[in-house]
Amino acid sequence: MTEQVEGIDPAVPPSGPGCVECERNSGWWVHLRRCAQCGHIGCCDTSPAQHATKHATATGHPFIQSFEPGEDWYYNFETGEMYDGGPELAPPRSHPANQGVPGPRERVPADWQAHIH
Ligand SMILES: [Zn+2]
Ligand SMILES: [Zn+2]
Repeated sequence: MTEQVEGIDPAVPPSGPGCVECERNSGWWVHLRRCAQCGHIGCCDTSPAQHATKHATATGHPFIQSFEPGEDWYYNFETGEMYDGGPELAPPRSHPANQGVPGPRERVPADWQAHIH
């Protein structure tokens, strides 16, 4: 049975292995979140640039799912609710583990802890 949820399109693949905007700016992130509607990968609120929240605010896309290996929780920006799981989105379900956390490894500065929220 396929559950239809407004704001979630399980057929859309993720935009890529890293945060869309950080990849453009040679930035880095702590954790990654996936927009469940359009597949946009953005960085979490702990990350310096917080692109996942900015994407949700700019587009009105309500749901993100964690893009971290082994995590499948959802969050709804409109209600502030967290969910332990939900519809299974198109693969891949997470970034490559060897990308590192924070990542990507090669761009994380030595003093990264001074830049997070
Ligand atoms: Zn970012
Ligand atoms: Zn989106």
